[in-house]
Amino acid sequence: MSASREYAELRRTAARYAHRMRNYTAPMHDRALVLFSGGQDSATCLAWALSRYAHVETVGFDYGQRHAVELEVRPRLLAELRQQFPDWHQRLRDDHLVTMRELAQLSDTALTASAEIRMGAKGLPTTFVPGRNLLFFTYAAAIAYRRDIPVLVGGMCETDYSGYPDCRDDTLKALQIALSLGMDQRFVLETPLMWLSKAQTWQLAQDLGGDALVELIRTETHTCYLGDRTTRHAWGLGCGACPACELRGAGWSGWQAARAASARS
Ligand code: ZN
Repeated sequence: MSASREYAELRRTAARYAHRMRNYTAPMHDRALVLFSGGQDSATCLAWALSRYAHVETVGFDYGQRHAVELEVRPRLLAELRQQFPDWHQRLRDDHLVTMRELAQLSDTALTASAEIRMGAKGLPTTFVPGRNLLFFTYAAAIAYRRDIPVLVGGMCETDYSGYPDCRDDTLKALQIALSLGMDQRFVLETPLMWLSKAQTWQLAQDLGGDALVELIRTETHTCYLGDRTTRHAWGLGCGACPACELRGAGWSGWQAARAASARS
């Protein structure tokens, strides 16, 4: 092929490509399924999803967790979100509750048994449930598959966290590929809190839903591993001493301090 014909061919190919790109529309990702435990992080993720997607469903898991009280706060939170945020009411659709009690049988962990919560041998708290988020996302993807939902949203975070390896960004990116290949359907795993500190997560709630959302999350979400909903703190209810309460409390204090400093300046 002569140089001029080669160049003409190249231009035609480039023109075809440019035309395709001009007519390319991203797949309509307007449906999302949120892993919603009833905790601060997942409630913030739910608000994030409601501000982005037209159709949002939720899924919760009953895995014999010690803090099963979070299963009781879920319906209350959903009802309050519907009532207090009319724009989100239409978007918030079905809630799914999946029972997976076998998780407590499979793993010996302080989150599903009354063992002591402390740092374990591998540098992880004894609350670590091996593979928990892998299972949650896999179950969620199975629900999303049959309901034609391409986006799965989870509140995992590797900034202020307890070191759980299944909360890491790389783990979840690998899982996104595994689920997409394994079900032959493209899934996108969104983790809006991945790189936020706990203080920034409070700020995100403020940005998404103002004081009303912060107040709802502060008073109605549940984080404490021990299931304590009697001891009151500035940041909500909880024992105040378990790793989850410590993270939540430190995040709240950090956020309050940052707000006070910015108000002064
Ligand atoms: Zn606690």
